[in-house]
Amino acid sequence: MIDDRPVLDDHLHLDPDHHRGIDAVRDFARVGGTHLLVVNKPSWHLGVKAETGDDFHTVFERTIEIVEEASSELEGQAWPVLGVHPGLISRLVDDRDFSPEEARDLMQAGIDVAAEYVSAGEALALKSGRPHYEVDDDVWAASNAVMRRAFEHGADLECAVQLHAEASEDMTAVADWAEDAGMPAHRVVKHYASGRLEGPTPSVMSDKDRLETAAERGEPFLMETDYIDDPDRPGAVLGPKTVPRRVRWLLENGHEEAVELAHIETPADVYGIDTEATLESEQ
Ligand SMILES: [Zn+2]
Repeated sequence: MIDDRPVLDDHLHLDPDHHRGIDAVRDFARVGGTHLLVVNKPSWHLGVKAETGDDFHTVFERTIEIVEEASSELEGQAWPVLGVHPGLISRLVDDRDFSPEEARDLMQAGIDVAAEYVSAGEALALKSGRPHYEVDDDVWAASNAVMRRAFEHGADLECAVQLHAEASEDMTAVADWAEDAGMPAHRVVKHYASGRLEGPTPSVMSDKDRLETAAERGEPFLMETDYIDDPDRPGAVLGPKTVPRRVRWLLENGHEEAVELAHIETPADVYGIDTEATLESEQ
């Protein structure tokens, strides 16, 4: 550990089939990482061609299994974040002849199933969003409808919703939709964020420039690597040791408050998790 501090990677993926995933957790722990939010891989990465919402059970169950294994490697804890990758809509519409409305219905059904796991206490938060690339208007509308379904569950379940979305530093319109649904805007987390963001809470990609911006801004933020994610952007993610290494770097550069913000205060406000109490050495 780093001076008995909790160190949380807010968004990464583990491959449940090749157990490469658990090696990544060991790497993370060895350099001082203590807590992880593990997001299920996109369903098509796991060879799942969903036809109904129930087909997502396999994806979610495999994520929950590897999260249990990850927790046993950590001095802190790992939690699952479950949902439907927004890029699925293009696969359904472009490759499988779904209409945007049919794709919306299937993806909303997948979100409904993910919400059942949150309701049962088996997952911490939901994952949704919309494509980060240009799409037709009807695909965009369908994607927004899926995201708004996730916000309805976030309101009912009082859980956070992580978003995969277009690169932007102003997502107040999306945060307003969350509030319309009844969930507080700060429980919406934009993953792969830059150092500043209006609206949702930014989960900042842990490169030095972005972190410096976030630390100097002084607003709530989280840190992530997005380890093994998007097949369309190979090499666009960071390795599993990055968050602990950047925490050390922030501390060396006098950003102690930012480190507490990203690893203790923001996780508590957004997810209701206590990263200090869940550390073994604190018991
Ligand atoms: Zn990801």
